[in-house]
Amino acid sequence: MADSSADSFDYVIVGAGAAGCVLANRLSEDGSATVCVLEAGPPDSNPWIHVPAGFIKTLVDPRVTWQFRTTPTANTAGRAVPTTQGRTLGGSSSVNGMVYNRGQPADLDNWAQRGNRGWGYADCLPYYRRSENRIGHDPAGRHGRNPGGIPVTDMDWFHPVSEAFIEGCVNAGIPRNPDYNSGDQAGVGYFQRAIHRGVRVSAARAFLHPAMRRPNLEVRTNARASRILFEGRRAVGVQYLAARGAPAQTVRARREVILSAGTANTARLLQVSGVGPADLLDSIGVPVLHELRGVGANFRDHYASRIVMRAKPGSVTLNQLARGHRLAGQVARWATNRPSILATVPSHVYVFWKSFEGLDAPDLQCVFTPGSYAEGKVYVLDSYPGVTAGAWQHRPESHGWVRARSADVFDDPDINPNYLSDANDRRVHLGGIRLIRRLLNTPEMQQHLEAETIPGRDVQTDDELLDFARRTGNTTYHLIGTAKMGPATDPSAVVGDRLLVHGMAGLRVADASIMPSMISANTYATVMMIAERAADFIRGREASAAELESAA
Ligand SMILES: Cc1cc2nc3c(=O)[nH]c(=O)nc-3n(C[C@H](O)[C@H](O)[C@H](O)COP(=O)(O)OP(=O)(O)OC[C@H]3O[C@@H](n4cnc5c(N)ncnc54)[C@H](O)[C@@H]3O)c2cc1C
Repeated sequence: MADSSADSFDYVIVGAGAAGCVLANRLSEDGSATVCVLEAGPPDSNPWIHVPAGFIKTLVDPRVTWQFRTTPTANTAGRAVPTTQGRTLGGSSSVNGMVYNRGQPADLDNWAQRGNRGWGYADCLPYYRRSENRIGHDPAGRHGRNPGGIPVTDMDWFHPVSEAFIEGCVNAGIPRNPDYNSGDQAGVGYFQRAIHRGVRVSAARAFLHPAMRRPNLEVRTNARASRILFEGRRAVGVQYLAARGAPAQTVRARREVILSAGTANTARLLQVSGVGPADLLDSIGVPVLHELRGVGANFRDHYASRIVMRAKPGSVTLNQLARGHRLAGQVARWATNRPSILATVPSHVYVFWKSFEGLDAPDLQCVFTPGSYAEGKVYVLDSYPGVTAGAWQHRPESHGWVRARSADVFDDPDINPNYLSDANDRRVHLGGIRLIRRLLNTPEMQQHLEAETIPGRDVQTDDELLDFARRTGNTTYHLIGTAKMGPATDPSAVVGDRLLVHGMAGLRVADASIMPSMISANTYATVMMIAERAADFIRGREASAAELESAA
């Protein structure tokens, strides 16, 4: 039972991440509704959050991140892969790679085909546009220019080796794409980013902070939700803690509790609250309130392999620019609002292409950066000049789970994406490694590069490359799927197409966990779209006629 002396709001949102910030803004637009946001992490005052290159610092800082790791498997050569997530206002959007990427229309059309009414690409496009403030060209008229959205800008800092890489791709038959977010992503070019005037614009900066001036919105930081409170099957509030062992506090929700805690934490919170697979709940000593077998299942991520090449002696790549007097020069440029390596994204160039030429749409995302990290080190640049290219499969079928290890939300859950467990995923992954190797060895790149250092030219056969992928592959931090959207007739579905939890009342999920299948993209843009949709569902609204017309 909820504590009736607790304070009450119309809506309680758990998590101020990419989705939670959008929701907090949109729900508090209605001055008659009161909204409380609980965020487990601190305010986003750490200065490294706001400098785009600061992700090198924040990603390993447990004060602003959940330092989750996957359960070791044979497919990761017994390694635990760090699947870090953001834990501060903005959530992962405060520590992410800032790439804005929507994916292919077919991703969403596939969601609709699975029985999710109103989730096709044409239905969702107005919501991508609503959450976006495109600053730059829009040849196909597919972008949003909403001043209340996330600014999406073009790269403004270019390296000659990146240009050579793009040139090499074009001459190898991959077209330069003027806008990969137009609905046709195939091709090569520079990423669009959530960076404006040299600064990261997280979801907190774009959506939450402006809304925090409203009297009907309250944001509580260092407030870790430890249990959803129910009366029967209706969610009526949330219990939260400031620290392990601290006294529990409660907040009541008159209308709804909305879970936006991210893929790992949303599933875990449902489980420790008694909603999930009965055998799992029994094993952690949590009474079963409502058995939903899909909670924590269907967990997916993109798994990437990266090839590193040493550049010719005397080359100046990011490895040199990030040191000594050259770094001082870059800092000075950044401080005077000129293009600088401090305001770039971790991957500069994209290639959306095919593992086999016969495919009619790309099944791979490849990335290129004119810099390289030392093998086995976390974000330590190589001492020699180098470049890196990575590849991952768009829509992996390999999937695993997130399972609470105990009823205590201060114990990390068991996180197992089962990378590369599907035979077709392994085949496509190998196609990706071979493609980036080919693109790193075009005549245009040979002018700049000397030799492959990772994995090295002696690694050639499928078995050798797969062994390399298992030993060195990594997450792209695109965790999805643990509260899958699908009709109630689907036993693995957790929420319906209005994002309400099946079999419960007053409980909705709006974050990356609802994605039923992986999209052909980084996940941030789609999470913001999901949150925009959730806000309309809650407010009983539709996209306006003007929004529908301009997206048509
Ligand atoms: C390092 C990294 C790089 C990435 N790079 C990119 C990129 O370049 N482009 C892209 O498109 N995507 C990228 N992503 C993915 C993208 O950021 C995520 O898909 C997106 O942020 C997910 O949004 P979310 O709202 O589901 O969760 P999050 O943004 O992770 O937010 C969840 C929030 O809930 C809070 N929370 C969790 N549990 C509780 C609890 N019990 N109580 C209270 N609060 C809680 C968390 O602290 C967090 O603030 C990256 C992610 C990471 C981590």
